[in-house]
Amino acid sequence: MKKAVVIFSGGQDSTTCLFWALEKYDEVEAITFAYGQKHSVEIEQSKIISERCDVKQTIVDISFLNTLVESALTSNGDVNEINEKGLPASFVPNRNQLFITLAHAYAQKIGAQYLVTGVCQTDYSGYPDCRQDFVNAISVASNMGSASGIIIETPLMYLNKAETFELAWSLDCLDDVIELSHTCYNGDRKHRYVWGYGCNQCPACELRAKGYVEFNTGQNPL
Ligand SMILES: [Zn+2]
Repeated sequence: MKKAVVIFSGGQDSTTCLFWALEKYDEVEAITFAYGQKHSVEIEQSKIISERCDVKQTIVDISFLNTLVESALTSNGDVNEINEKGLPASFVPNRNQLFITLAHAYAQKIGAQYLVTGVCQTDYSGYPDCRQDFVNAISVASNMGSASGIIIETPLMYLNKAETFELAWSLDCLDDVIELSHTCYNGDRKHRYVWGYGCNQCPACELRAKGYVEFNTGQNPL
């Protein structure tokens, strides 16, 4: 029996990954990390989606990460800025490293052979921990350090946002992705657009909106 753990934030990408995993594996569980993100509404949405998909969800509080790192996603900084290292201010140092490490431990516990993460280097937001090289490296380290052979799947790695919308459409979950998944860094669920809820101003909304237009029209709006 094929069993998978999906690193599930409640955003567009991980929601698409959850539906992708449900098609592919016999048993799927979701793991969600609460790290004090300003857009914590994402976690509320992740609960709604997990329930809708009848998937067991484990929410892990790692808000201690806040006391160790600096990021506009967890503080009052401007998410649109670039920091002194040339990385977006929304970058959370070592976040994916921690997510994968912890999810890998959980996968071992429940006997899952697969770990699914929605990281993507195509519409690369400037996050170095979203690249396949990084995933390969942490995959080797995690398996070597635990004498296990868990396969880390990255179904979105080489898709752009328009193609991720298309994947959701082909998985018959486009309506759920638009209506229920949450991407906006500012946690806005008051304003509804054709591509879903958000402020329509932060980089995450911009990417999602642009991807939806491209998916719908087949043309890049920029
Ligand atoms: Zn936004």
